[in-house]
Amino acid sequence: MATLDINGVRKAYGKHEVLKEVNISVGDGEFLVLLGPSGCGKSTLLNIIAGLEDITGGEVLIGGRVVNDLPPKDRDIAMVFQSYALYPTMTVRQNIEFGMKIRGIAAEERAKATEAAAEMLQMTGLLNRKPSQLSGGQRQRVAMGRAIVRHPELFLFDEPLSNLDAKLRVDMRTEIKRLHQRLGATIVYVTHDQIEAMTLATKVAVMKDGIVQHFGPPQEVYDRPANTYVARFVGSPAMNIIPGRLNVSGGQASVAFDTPLGEARVTDVTVSSETAERFGGRDVLVGIRPEHFSHDTAGGVPVSVDVVEPTGPDTLVIFSAGGTEVVARLEPMDIVVGAQTRFGVKAEKVVLFDPQTETRLD
Ligand code: ADP
Ligand code: MG
Repeated sequence: MATLDINGVRKAYGKHEVLKEVNISVGDGEFLVLLGPSGCGKSTLLNIIAGLEDITGGEVLIGGRVVNDLPPKDRDIAMVFQSYALYPTMTVRQNIEFGMKIRGIAAEERAKATEAAAEMLQMTGLLNRKPSQLSGGQRQRVAMGRAIVRHPELFLFDEPLSNLDAKLRVDMRTEIKRLHQRLGATIVYVTHDQIEAMTLATKVAVMKDGIVQHFGPPQEVYDRPANTYVARFVGSPAMNIIPGRLNVSGGQASVAFDTPLGEARVTDVTVSSETAERFGGRDVLVGIRPEHFSHDTAGGVPVSVDVVEPTGPDTLVIFSAGGTEVVARLEPMDIVVGAQTRFGVKAEKVVLFDPQTETRLD
């Protein structure tokens, strides 16, 4: 059972705290993604799980066992780094077998494990090549093969795709997802790419400045982000955060915000009675994902079109509301700059944030 529990983990380099009270728990077979901008502490946390860095405070448990004082080789983990660190003079087969050879595993068993991994990664035809004869994606596969033959309890990946070009990154992403489905292994995966996080994870930890901002399933992180930071980091174009007001009357809640063409109003917004009480008649931040606008000439939001960006599958329309730039993602359509129209909003998808703390209400 490769569960992973990170309990109150702190890490400081001298006075510089790079991880502050990190709490994350995932079950056996989960795919945990540590997501955040460069420098937020992702690699530090991964290295702590691997045992490559010691901890200033807290506990790490793998399979329910505290591993704080266990050296990396005794943790039953395999790590795949951004730089694949293949041995250039060895063939693919020798690269994959090397770790097993060191551990004294018999030649026949090594060959069997290597061939099984090669088959799983569709590189049986590459086993006799040297790394210099491989593409970036193939080298990445060899690095994964080396990890697979160890049958670890826990796979750790540190930005494994960031050296690959865009197209290959998408292909390898699918391959890693397939690998996870086949192996059923527990994986911890570091990336700054929110799409990778959304597509791969069963749980995401969004980090900023050494603090986990939101830990949960990707769809929850997307639909109900814990704060405006998470709302803006996950999703592209980002969630619109529009300064507005909450109105509650007769048990009905609505939000309003100003536009250059007059007031916009979104009715039938769902709020808890606590939020209605605390924020009714007050300022709130209104979170609306771009795809939750629709072109509806009877809709509640008056729009003067500033910019039109067709992307192929959809058209982005940029307009001004609440003193900020707002992006709507609509069906492909002919709409011209300067046009005045109205957009509807899916009220049930609206998320509200406290304007002071910027945390989600409800
Ligand atoms: P990420 O992987 O999210 O880009 P890191 O975990 O590599 O971030 O780094 C987090 C922070 O810790 C950064 O501010 C970095 O400068 C700092 N840091 C990392 N390693 C060391 C070290 N050995 N000594 C001092 N500071 C470090
Ligand atoms: Mg890093």
